[in-house]
Amino acid sequence: MRTVVVHSDDWRRFDYGPEHPLRMERLGLTWRLMDAYGLTALPGAKVVSPEPASVEAITRFHVPEYVDVLRAVSAGDWVPHAARYGLGPGDNPIFPGLWEAAQLAAGGSIRAAALVADGEVDRAFHFAGGLHHAMPDRASGFCYVNDAVLAILTLRKRGFKVAYVDIDAHHGDGVQFAFYDDPAVLTISTHERGDRLFPGTGFVEEMGEGPGVGYSVNLPLQPFTDDAVYERAFEAVVPPLLTRFAPDVLVLQLGIDSHRTDPLTHLALSVQGFLRAVRRLLEFAPRVVALGGGGYDIVNVARAWTGAWAVLNDATLPDPLPQALHRDMQALGLETLTLSDPPAAIEPETRRWAEEYATRQVRAVHEQVFPLHGL
Ligand SMILES: [Zn+2]
Repeated sequence: MRTVVVHSDDWRRFDYGPEHPLRMERLGLTWRLMDAYGLTALPGAKVVSPEPASVEAITRFHVPEYVDVLRAVSAGDWVPHAARYGLGPGDNPIFPGLWEAAQLAAGGSIRAAALVADGEVDRAFHFAGGLHHAMPDRASGFCYVNDAVLAILTLRKRGFKVAYVDIDAHHGDGVQFAFYDDPAVLTISTHERGDRLFPGTGFVEEMGEGPGVGYSVNLPLQPFTDDAVYERAFEAVVPPLLTRFAPDVLVLQLGIDSHRTDPLTHLALSVQGFLRAVRRLLEFAPRVVALGGGGYDIVNVARAWTGAWAVLNDATLPDPLPQALHRDMQALGLETLTLSDPPAAIEPETRRWAEEYATRQVRAVHEQVFPLHGL
């Protein structure tokens, strides 16, 4: 097993602003936790820096006019109608260097995909990536450039058949959009239901179009879906489709805003529930490009992605967090200093409500999508 983690300290230069939930510190904290666990110097695992993606690479998905706008606002130029491109106060703020930040995120995911495509490694992890909401001509949901789409395009260019599985709490709408009519890319997204959470899409009925019908798969879930409910629904949908599709490469979006303490969403997973899904996914393809994603309680981000990197290396970690991180984790509000979460009770009524919704969605996938794959 040869692996690579793509990481850069350059992220410290960028800032979405003091009120924004996407804190760049999450990346540094994740790296320090990986390091404290001894995961940054594993035999067989490389550490490489991202190269900023070129305009040419970024315009494989994004329209040149939008790229021009990103470059202009990033340099401090006044652009009238920036809001037309999703830019401005709110989710996608204009800050100095946002173009360079977007280039770095895109470049890291392209690099991860290229290393896998070249056969240099079997599994790659770029946890600063996974910015799955960006659209060809606009920023959306904290995402300016869709590195996940660019990673998939890198793999497609080399002829690989790709399955994309997105376990972020939000629907992976930008990636679904990019490959909506393409049967060579299977996209599967599990997320909180779109009528309760941004971006408002990701219903079972969104199944693709033209030759791509059946190759966009969505599993929406009820608020308070916990590990047990999630695992049952996931098992009923994801493994059969991946087995049938038999991808050459799996691209994973590993957002951890599905966690029960995440401030922006309402799912109720634990770190260990998240890691079980990651471990299970690795069974379905010989090559894997794993990306990060959402996650706004940064103690969860660090623990989940450190755990995911261990899983990608088939390594097991002691549950107590390394001493070196105790003070930081406590300061950030983590009460139990372990990688996994303590058990949490969910009201039986709430659990039943989540379970019933999941059962209905699974049945809809089985009735509407599975027959398109002969399942
Ligand atoms: Zn998210």
